[in-house]
Amino acid sequence: AKQSGRNRYVLYDPFIHREEQERFRMDGWIRKGLKQGEFALHYQPQVDMESGRVTGAEALIRWHHPEEGLIPPNEFIPLAEESGTIVDIGYWVLDTACEQLRKWMEAGYAPLCISINLSAKQFLDPKFPDVLADTLNRTGIEPSLLCLEITERTAMLDKGGCADICREIMSFGVKLSIDDFGTGYSSLVLLKQLPVHSIKIDRSFVIELETNDSDRAIIIAMIAMSHNLGKKVVAEGVEELGQWNMLARLGCDEVQGYFVSRPLPADEFVRFLARERQQ
Ligand code: C2E
Ligand code: CA
Ligand code: CA
Ligand code: CA
Repeated sequence: AKQSGRNRYVLYDPFIHREEQERFRMDGWIRKGLKQGEFALHYQPQVDMESGRVTGAEALIRWHHPEEGLIPPNEFIPLAEESGTIVDIGYWVLDTACEQLRKWMEAGYAPLCISINLSAKQFLDPKFPDVLADTLNRTGIEPSLLCLEITERTAMLDKGGCADICREIMSFGVKLSIDDFGTGYSSLVLLKQLPVHSIKIDRSFVIELETNDSDRAIIIAMIAMSHNLGKKVVAEGVEELGQWNMLARLGCDEVQGYFVSRPLPADEFVRFLARERQQ
């Protein structure tokens, strides 16, 4: 009796009920928003430290809700990941980024590498390789100009299968990167097992890089290991000149962060490129 009483309490808990309703409503909003063009990708430049040139951009999703205004990804991506709507979002992102790249190539811009964030559900979706191949064919973009970022968390979900999926994706010529590197519990195992092109040092290590000896020691080690394994190192969240200088000294390959630019809408990104290339 006690047990069922508790269950009933949980079932009718108005708070949980409300939370669930909200999630359900959000899900409907997302599906509708995707159809009605409420989502956009912003592009954050990635710069090669040696040449100072923009080599590519990370595509980051933005949601302009007609009533709520701009909803940041941290407020809907986790919910969408739980409900599975993230798979719809993910395919929209893949398609939009590849179409954008095709347009930029047709307009005669120098080749740019576009990185997109892959959620776990999309990465593990059995249909994913086919959709990817299809998108590459349809847009005709050079596969090596597309980089898929997976987080350590994603890679850990399916330890055995993950390397196989990575190899299948890479057989198309697409690049792979481990995002938020160093924040999981098995960074080293992943670095050894996964056939990725690059790692992205998480911003948490970059913030106090200049003053915190441990953070600096960890970054030095991450760069050395990655380079010894033939992988490129990108640092994210670089906001200051001091951080840039230190990362350059430590041999980091590429940098992304507010110090270079915030994520920009496609048209502003192109203007940013034009300005950079004049210098
Ligand atoms: P992330 O993949 O680690 O992306 C980097 C985040 O750091 C972005 O936040 C970016 O705007 C922000 N950032 C870049 N430079 C700096 C800097 O110098 N300082 C600081 N403080 N922040 C910086 P954003 O765009 O709000 O995205 C947050 C997270 O949402 C992303 O983290 C990613 O996990 C997720 N996300 C964004 N777009 C997508 C998407 O298209 N698909 C999926 N599955 N997830 C996405
Ligand atoms: Ca990312
Ligand atoms: Ca990241
Ligand atoms: Ca991060």
